[in-house]
Amino acid sequence: MSDIAGNIHFLKSQIPSSVKLVAVSKTKPVSDIIVAYNTGQRYFGENRVQELMDKKDLLPSDIEWHLIGHLQSNKVKYIVPFISMIQSVDSYNLLVKVNSEALKIKRVVDCLLQIHIATEETKFGFSMQELNENMKSENISNLKNIRISGVMGMATFTSYKDQVKKEFGYLRDCFQSLKDNYFKSSDYFKEISMGMSGDYEIAVQEGSTMIRIGSLIFGERQHQE
Ligand SMILES: *Cc1c(COP(=O)(O)O)cnc(C)c1O
Repeated sequence: MSDIAGNIHFLKSQIPSSVKLVAVSKTKPVSDIIVAYNTGQRYFGENRVQELMDKKDLLPSDIEWHLIGHLQSNKVKYIVPFISMIQSVDSYNLLVKVNSEALKIKRVVDCLLQIHIATEETKFGFSMQELNENMKSENISNLKNIRISGVMGMATFTSYKDQVKKEFGYLRDCFQSLKDNYFKSSDYFKEISMGMSGDYEIAVQEGSTMIRIGSLIFGERQHQE
């Protein structure tokens, strides 16, 4: 068995079957994605629109693509026709943009609210205060062509496990508070996307429903972005 296939089987054996594995294939060639696909893997994550567009046409159409990187408004129109989930929605303006592009083609697009949980300023995401303000004014619930399916977050890049655990616990609390206050009657608001190669075990302990794994499946990336 190839490394990639073996890595996927190993990861799946480590996590509960209720936790979705998103294979993060950024910077990796189409041939690697095919190997993963042939194990039955169907959820793949990319962080750049151009790279995603280049790869997807060369790959089977039943792949469910997740966008996991910061999305610029002017690129929304390219991905809305096929994207399975936009995990990295980090502003109200972006929600509005996704909604309007989806409306044009009569699609409903699943989105996660990316929440800033790390200490690093460089990571994107809403604060809970911003989300509460938007929710209270019902701005978000007026957007009928997006379906808010939960939250996503990235922990601080650190070896201090307690710090990572605290941040994932915070994201779970954010999810619960949003659910209780605004999405009680939504069957869709159920995902907590957290956990990467270095911290997925902690994330699963803290209630992750979706982990996004790149290097543990495909090997180290040449250039980190
Ligand atoms: C690159 C990336 C991942 C995967 O990172 P690994 O450490 O290689 O598993 C997960 N989530 C996001 C948002 C990423 O950009």
